[in-house]
Amino acid sequence: PTLRNPEQWCRSFSHFIGQCLIKDFEARPSVTHLLEHPFIKQAHGKDVALRQQLAGLIREQQEVGCKTKTKHERINTRKTLIIERCPDDDLVNLEFLDEETIISHLQRRYDELQVYTYVGDILIALNPFQNLSIYSPQFSKLYHGVKRVDNPPHIFATADAAYQGMVTFCKDQCIIISGESGAGKTESAHLIVQHLTFLGKANNRTLREKILQVNPLVEAFGNACTAINDNSSRFGKYLEMKFTPTGAVIGAKISEYLLEKSRVIKQAMGEKNFHIFYYIYLQFDLMQDIVSSKLYKEQFDAIQECFRNIGFTEEEVNSVYRILSAILNTGNIEFAAITSQHQTDKSEVPNSEALENAASLLSIGPEELQEALTSQCVVTRGETIIRTNTVDKATDVRDAMSKALYGRLFSWIVNRINSLLTRQAKGEQKKNGMNVGILDIFGFENFKKNSFEQLCINIANEQIQFYFNQHIFALEQMEYQSEGVDASLVEYEDNRPILDMFLQKPMGLLSLLDEESRFPQATDQTLVDKFEDNLRCKYFWIPKRVELCFGIQHYAGKVMYNVNGFLEKNRDTLPADIVVVLRTSENKLLQQLFSSPLTKTGMLLHIYIYIYIYICYLEHLKMLSRFVCVQVDTMEMMRHPDETTNMRRQTVASYFRYSLMDLLSKMVVGQPHFVRCIKPNDDRQALRFCKERVMVQLRYTGILETVNIRRQGYSHRILFEDFVNRYYYLAFRAHQMPETSKENAVAILERAKLEDWVLGKTKVFLRYYHVEQLNLLLREV
Ligand code: ATP
Ligand code: MG
Repeated sequence: PTLRNPEQWCRSFSHFIGQCLIKDFEARPSVTHLLEHPFIKQAHGKDVALRQQLAGLIREQQEVGCKTKTKHERINTRKTLIIERCPDDDLVNLEFLDEETIISHLQRRYDELQVYTYVGDILIALNPFQNLSIYSPQFSKLYHGVKRVDNPPHIFATADAAYQGMVTFCKDQCIIISGESGAGKTESAHLIVQHLTFLGKANNRTLREKILQVNPLVEAFGNACTAINDNSSRFGKYLEMKFTPTGAVIGAKISEYLLEKSRVIKQAMGEKNFHIFYYIYLQFDLMQDIVSSKLYKEQFDAIQECFRNIGFTEEEVNSVYRILSAILNTGNIEFAAITSQHQTDKSEVPNSEALENAASLLSIGPEELQEALTSQCVVTRGETIIRTNTVDKATDVRDAMSKALYGRLFSWIVNRINSLLTRQAKGEQKKNGMNVGILDIFGFENFKKNSFEQLCINIANEQIQFYFNQHIFALEQMEYQSEGVDASLVEYEDNRPILDMFLQKPMGLLSLLDEESRFPQATDQTLVDKFEDNLRCKYFWIPKRVELCFGIQHYAGKVMYNVNGFLEKNRDTLPADIVVVLRTSENKLLQQLFSSPLTKTGMLLHIYIYIYIYICYLEHLKMLSRFVCVQVDTMEMMRHPDETTNMRRQTVASYFRYSLMDLLSKMVVGQPHFVRCIKPNDDRQALRFCKERVMVQLRYTGILETVNIRRQGYSHRILFEDFVNRYYYLAFRAHQMPETSKENAVAILERAKLEDWVLGKTKVFLRYYHVEQLNLLLREV
């Protein structure tokens, strides 16, 4: 064939591929394998449209291949795994879409251990609270490159849809997992990573193992036992799996958001510190509880293995343990007041053992450490004065040091993993590599006492919910537009006003908090007053009889926040004296953690990053403006919250804005897939379905809202042909068999005396009650 004519080229190409496919499928029915073919790889570099066409062809062929070659095998597998599709796998297929019907269906399915259900393209995942045998490699095979309707709903199907979407359309994908604490987000994220590593079969087995070990390692440092969940994520995580254009996995990258550092120094009743402390504690002391001790020993060994496999050096791992041990010892440092005639505000460390241990583990001098904890240098009018710290102040400095050490150590581990896992991916990424991102963010929280941490967590969830609404709405809009139906007819409840109340500048809640944090004399009371004076919004109120509290009507329910400690938590101050003493450490890792953020090279780097983000920002501005309600200051984005610099101090709230913006900018470039995790009961019991609890979650995760969107809008869009075939009895005689045309559809609608329906180009748009009415009439005929 002559290759001058592109059409002919395509045709001959597809002919060639057709032949290859038949041969290759006999040998190995895998789309990844075929996409690795040199011909296809070559085509990719030259013409993206052609590649898409080829990928489509391959998928088509694959379906044929799967059907012909492995149909028998598949039927057998299905029989052995006892899985069949049933009509109510997708709630959208239900005739009646009211809350009661949906709950009953979910309950019946849960009783039969069918924990997954679709609502259109959204996956609902009910936590089974028991190990199910549906995640084996056999299941991975079953959910590989097949149509969604061929198998029952499954988390692997969502991972497969993302993977196939990425390979076929050359587009980044992102899977957004949401749900409240303990609903199963992290477990779902693990299962997705498991399936994606299976799908993106890399030749490099070690890389697959490394990727699978990233989650356990990061979670040892970022997860903890809470009142709700024994393995609760105390940070937000966005894991990007990186693939070649042909779908082979080549690396992974994690971004972490808002680690709950305060847990290092204090935990609520019945809660624990981050897991890693218990694993290493065993190395110092023999625990009383034999069972826990055995478990922790195993976990410690597993973490060691993860460190080794991912590629951390022995020196690095030792430094990590030394810093962790130093944090434990720092917690034991106590202060006592020195009261003399002239001074009442001086403190000392009466028992120096903990201080000496901490200093030795940090490789710094104990005297220097004590000085930094119990006094501070203040520069006033060019003069340096040493001020002594009271016991309370010294305790605050000690805690700030522990939090900073842990927070920076955590970020360092994440960055180190990234550099170890993306090394080989870098080259490939330049050649149009693609990502599947998985977002596992802390769930909405509403405790008896809610503080600054809960506020940040809930704002993040509010933002994700906004993104979800926008996406569902946008899809709706697209179908209306393509059918030529007036899109303004669709209405839905939007949480943007609440987000604006939090994020707007200069009068949003976070800005007000920042402003107040800058006044040294500000108190919890002045903060509440400021909120009360400036926030005029129906979603915010100050309760009459409870002091120092404010209430917010979130999309997920009312939450009462206690402002106690808000200002301090937002300032997150780390005194310069502590930074100075930690920089004198002989421990290389520690030096790195506290190295100057704004050295010349650092500054240059910041400028580069800033320009890069700005370009990305401009590029995605259109898309972002639809999804993001965050405004970010330019340099504000660059600084870590607890860095003391000459510039205006960075607060946690402003860093939080940046994190949200950063996260959203990553998400909006991808095609989203939503997984809504639901907790069926609060007792973590298998097979217990508490209707009220599920109902509340369905409401606020937007499932019922999605249903409501459909109910308010034209939830039924039926092709003229299908409509006439189904309802022609209502306007024609049984033997007439009318033509399946638009006109006959109208005749039926008029005969049934329905109003308010709309005609698209190929479909009749009906409201939910229209269908109920039509079905009723049909029964009467
Ligand atoms: P948090 O917001 O607190 O991090 P989460 O939504 O991430 O909560 P997970 O830690 O994933 O919740 O799940 C809580 C517990 O529920 C798990 O430790 C596990 O015992 C159980 N669980 C969740 N999903 C599954 C599943 N698919 N199969 C078996 N058990 C599960
Ligand atoms: Mg979790």
